[in-house]
Amino acid sequence: MNILIFGPNGSGKGTQGSLAKQKYDLDHIESGAIFRKHIGGGTELGLKAKEYIDKGELVPDDITIPMVLDVLQSSSSNGWLLDGFPRSIVQAEKLWEALQKDGVKLDFVIEILLPREVAKARIMGRRLCANDPNHPNNVGIPAIAPDGDKCRVCGGELSARADDQDEDAINKRHDIYYDDKTGTIAAAYFYKDLADKAGFKYIELDGEGTIDEIKETLLSQLA
Ligand code: ADP
Repeated sequence: MNILIFGPNGSGKGTQGSLAKQKYDLDHIESGAIFRKHIGGGTELGLKAKEYIDKGELVPDDITIPMVLDVLQSSSSNGWLLDGFPRSIVQAEKLWEALQKDGVKLDFVIEILLPREVAKARIMGRRLCANDPNHPNNVGIPAIAPDGDKCRVCGGELSARADDQDEDAINKRHDIYYDDKTGTIAAAYFYKDLADKAGFKYIELDGEGTIDEIKETLLSQLA
């Protein structure tokens, strides 16, 4: 089982992706995590990639594409959930070429739809509980709004992560994601157009629902 997942930062992509990953026992291949591993290990690739990542830019294709394709080719027999790649139309085309060439079947493509302003409000609204980072609190999402200025689960102190409040950085990432000519949305549409012809299922999820609602829709479609 091989799955691609698309969704803007702030859409709950990580949560829904892990659901699909668990259901089919897939390798989670996350481009950002592969880069972080290289950076942590001080590899040559990591040093090159870091320059771009620190500026909030995409790492160039001549580094990113071979790196991701290489990890895909060495993944286990159960298949993979690919997350964070492709992020551009060029990457989308190169991935498709590689899958065709290697005779690898794509089964599902998941897209979580969320308007840009909502995604931004969700990121900026995230609050971290001092007692448990898993306690959900978000001033931008009514279903999990904090209790006054305290954690809605345990009453603990709340704080905001500094990078969640960096509006320029959020805008830069969203500029890439929501670019429907050459960016990530364009990459998603590339697969949407191919779905029927190529025989995989394209699943669109309304990212404005609650986590549980989205989960339920996703599970009913991943059959
Ligand atoms: P974020 O969602 O915060 O951008 P990721 O962990 O997905 O975080 O990626 C971290 C960084 O790694 C990105 O900002 C980008 O610089 C780089 N990166 C990840 N995936 C790709 C990709 N497909 N193409 C180019 N650069 C990428």
